[in-house]
Amino acid sequence: MRRRGELATNLEAVKARIKNPEVTLIVVTKTYPVSDVQILHELGVRDFGENRNEEGLEKSAAVEGRWHYQGEIQSRKLRDIGAWADVVHSLDNASHISKLANVASKSLDIFLQLSLDGDPARGGAVESELPALADIALASANLHLAGLMCVPPVAADPRTAFTEIAAIHQRFISKYPEAKSLSAGMSGDFEIAIDCGATHIRVGSSILGSRTVR
Ligand SMILES: *Cc1c(COP(=O)(O)O)cnc(C)c1O
Repeated sequence: MRRRGELATNLEAVKARIKNPEVTLIVVTKTYPVSDVQILHELGVRDFGENRNEEGLEKSAAVEGRWHYQGEIQSRKLRDIGAWADVVHSLDNASHISKLANVASKSLDIFLQLSLDGDPARGGAVESELPALADIALASANLHLAGLMCVPPVAADPRTAFTEIAAIHQRFISKYPEAKSLSAGMSGDFEIAIDCGATHIRVGSSILGSRTVR
């Protein structure tokens, strides 16, 4: 009961800060138990994000919703991820996209993960690599190219980073008009991301509490 009150208060506080009603709030439930996901579902949340295949598999089997995978991708887990996830945000290489197209048992929305600085620690492809990845997705009947996802470099000024991300997204849309969505912004910076054009925000700790890992 106490947890329900806590989650309800935090969720309302985050929603109140989202000034654009068109924005999709993805509640990132990683490391938190299925019971929290159930409460969030009762509170009206339908979009959930996970970073690990095993966790996503377990929680998506227990709670209905639109499940987003946003973690680092391992090739051997793609078949599983493609089965439980509805949306995959973290695709950044050609072989993973081809494999997902082949193993997915249903149609999936995908975001290509953009990297502003090419740092492999956070993942993502640099702007010049995006068209080749997009073309693989477009050639697949299973994959629907929804847009771009980005996590700015830790040291970057958020407004500068999200402005640059939005500019790259606009250039990308001019070639791939269906890729209208921009998944950018987390607990610490989602208002700035929305200001700069994010359509999807991925918020964990502001709603569920701070994590000791990941
Ligand atoms: C964990 C994570 C989030 C949520 O981060 P918070 O700071 O807890 O809101 C969003 N996106 C990705 C890719 C993540 O790994």
